[in-house]
Amino acid sequence: MTIEEQLKEVIRDIVDFPQPGIVFKDITPILKDPELCTAVVEAFAERLQGQDIDVIAGIESRGFLFGLMLANRLSLPFVPIRKQGKLPFKTIAESYKLEYGQATIEVHEDAFAPGARVLLHDDLLATGGTVVAASKLVEKLGGIVAGYSFVISLDFLNSRGRLTRFSENIVSLVGY
Ligand code: AMP
Repeated sequence: MTIEEQLKEVIRDIVDFPQPGIVFKDITPILKDPELCTAVVEAFAERLQGQDIDVIAGIESRGFLFGLMLANRLSLPFVPIRKQGKLPFKTIAESYKLEYGQATIEVHEDAFAPGARVLLHDDLLATGGTVVAASKLVEKLGGIVAGYSFVISLDFLNSRGRLTRFSENIVSLVGY
């Protein structure tokens, strides 16, 4: 079975969570299977092989799960991008629109050196709003978006086009 087939067997659809009309892709069954977790990390590593990446930045909170594992596998530093008010040191922030209201994410201002090539990682690409904001944070710190990695992309939302102005290097293991 391919990694996509293996993942599709266990990813759970939770209808109307966290609000009516949303089909939430629950990745917690992946986390219960250590061999599958390793396979996920190896699949990312294979697809990113030979790429010029200095840092992996994971987006709170599910982007921390495989983001840190992948950074460790590739012997790269890991940087957390968090929701407002969570990071203890000096931060820079970026706000973006959600379906209802707005959200703000932050990164430590010393997270990486100017010129660093940063791979942004999250569990899932939906509208792209979160990773676009994260990409702006990377650029505000003088970094370069080296690419994106997602376990899942909701391709029916056609949001990849929003990312290509930062990087066309988009890796996703499962598409819906
Ligand atoms: P977006 O900014 O619209 O691309 O949303 C991406 C963020 O929201 C990611 O951090 C996801 O974890 C979460 N998310 C959005 N839609 C879903 C969904 N259908 N299932 C699970 N997580 C989602």
